[in-house]
Amino acid sequence: MVGELICAMMEGKGRGVIARHSIAASDLLLCARPAVVLEGPPDPEGAPDAARLVPALVQAANAQDVPQIRAALQYLYDGTDASRLQLPDIRTMMNLAKHSSSSSSSSSSSLQEGLQESCCDHDHSSGHHHHHHDSHSHSAAEPAAADADKLTEQQASLLVKYNAFADDYEDLAAAAVRGAAMPHSHVGLWPQFALFNHSCLPNSVHYLVGHAMVVRAVEDVAAGEELTVSYLGREEFAPAGARQAVLQERYGFACGCARCQLESQAPRQLQQQLLDTYRQVMQAPRQLQQQLLDTYWQVMQDLKPRFLEAVEHQDQSNLAAVQAQLQTLEHFLSAALQQHRAVLSDSAVLVLQAAVYDLYELLLFCEQLLPQGNEAESKHAALACIGRCLAILNCVSKGAELHVFLASRLLQHAVDLRGPDSAQAEAAAQLFLEAHRMRYGSQLEQQVQLELMEANKQAAEEFLM
Ligand SMILES: [Zn+2]
Repeated sequence: MVGELICAMMEGKGRGVIARHSIAASDLLLCARPAVVLEGPPDPEGAPDAARLVPALVQAANAQDVPQIRAALQYLYDGTDASRLQLPDIRTMMNLAKHSSSSSSSSSSSLQEGLQESCCDHDHSSGHHHHHHDSHSHSAAEPAAADADKLTEQQASLLVKYNAFADDYEDLAAAAVRGAAMPHSHVGLWPQFALFNHSCLPNSVHYLVGHAMVVRAVEDVAAGEELTVSYLGREEFAPAGARQAVLQERYGFACGCARCQLESQAPRQLQQQLLDTYRQVMQAPRQLQQQLLDTYWQVMQDLKPRFLEAVEHQDQSNLAAVQAQLQTLEHFLSAALQQHRAVLSDSAVLVLQAAVYDLYELLLFCEQLLPQGNEAESKHAALACIGRCLAILNCVSKGAELHVFLASRLLQHAVDLRGPDSAQAEAAAQLFLEAHRMRYGSQLEQQVQLELMEANKQAAEEFLM
């Protein structure tokens, strides 16, 4: 096994990916090609049906001459023999990518690390296009990819069921910087990516650049620690019970991640950096947990639908009624959090608040749609609302698109309200830069960094109210 990542059996949850060496936040972990991918229009219902992947996967797996993908598919399926599995060595890949971009005049050659759509895997495997009996075989593992290994329809459908990944659109800023005509929705299977286990408080972020799946660490990770991604989309902003129901239904496992344990107060082992937070949340009484859950359901089942309807019909009086109810909920919740503040650290409060993130986001939107008081007052109120949402995301969803978008919005408001040279604007600019580094790495050329930031500012305009 080569590379920074090792695939290993994890206690109690099957295979997983662990760090061979210590990894720093914002380090690139994986940039992988799909075994198969289908595109659709870029909207929430746009991604093609995952069932359509099955015949395509059978054909692709049996036709293509990419031993790593074949081995990864086989491993995904039977999960036992890791000896044939090679996770790509990110350092080798980087060198190859740099080498190929320096010798290429393509417009994307200035995009470094995971921003290259010409996927690193491809570079990595070039030169391997020989038959298995070729005496130049690069590794002892390759000859095993014989006809007997051909993927069947039944195997493919199970692989798709548990491992397919769909997204409404690829990374918008990277698409803009690459000059992609139009971002697409995708459904596909990225075998190496599918090896990562889920956590509701993941230490990695993932997204698509073209067809390449990019995975980047958002926390420092010690050698031997597991690397995790979130399988949840928007459902990550829900209490443990609701998240677990989604994961059970969609992927058939019971999530026992640190955040779930932290919320359920049923401890076992916990990642080191969460231990402190965890101990304190452990002391949060049952009523507070119950209040979070009640608030969540009230927001999701009653207030959010009414909010969206009022916005659609530009019904100001209904919007004001929803806003008043949201404020009442928020008032009681923050009083409850305050009551137990002595036993809750700042990050514990943020992790708990993440369960009802929608409440805070709706309050922000209300503030912008129905400003109260004079202009300066309402701008201050909006700034405070953005700050609160951003703090939650910075705790549970580092490097996510929403994190980057909200940081952009905070910067814009801070500049607007306090001026571009103010301490607030400077602090906001720093948060925006950090969110960017988490998502795109810290070693981008300055020009690319600036282009991405500009593209994200524009994307944030379109995607946030
Ligand atoms: Zn969990």
